[in-house]
Amino acid sequence: MTTHPTLTLVHGDITEQHVDAVVNAANSSLLGGGGVDGAIHRRGGPEILDECRHLRASRYGKGLPTGQAVATTAGRLPAQWVIHTVGPVWQAHGSDPALLASCYRESLRVADELGARTIAFPAISTGAYGWPMKDAARTAVETVRAAETAVEEVRFVLFDERAYEVFAEQVRRSADRG
Ligand code: ADP
Repeated sequence: MTTHPTLTLVHGDITEQHVDAVVNAANSSLLGGGGVDGAIHRRGGPEILDECRHLRASRYGKGLPTGQAVATTAGRLPAQWVIHTVGPVWQAHGSDPALLASCYRESLRVADELGARTIAFPAISTGAYGWPMKDAARTAVETVRAAETAVEEVRFVLFDERAYEVFAEQVRRSADRG
């Protein structure tokens, strides 16, 4: 059965979340990076990178395109899967939220394929990729609220207090609009 998922917010570290799937704000190489990506590979261990390398070789020779998503094991993380998605770069993609929305939608689609019921997202593109937090929060919350999915809980995990406040404000606004 598909319905709209419940949104929850956590101020914390995504690598500590006990959920079915954790979303990684990856880069298209799938071979690791800084920020969330670095934290997930450090905590999750080498199994994740092994699967990423395999995906590169077998399906994504040119890299995972921006806005798409693909799953691997979660290694030693307290989750079953990592869903890697590539966010848009603010400088390159301007203010068009379509690719950022696609990251959330595609990650949920992959979660549905896996049978995941709980999923944790970081604030995709808001670190090295430079997307302004308020804009990113609006796209994240609106896209997830509108999604038809069997996922029951979508947890946004915000690393710092300010990001948490911006997302919380966005959830309140979105709830007011019904
Ligand atoms: P991107 O390249 O998509 O911008 P980053 O990893 O640089 O990805 O940053 C995305 C967001 O994730 C930023 O808001 C950053 O503060 C946050 N972040 C960094 N580490 C963690 C973590 N361990 N858990 C949750 N969020 C994190």
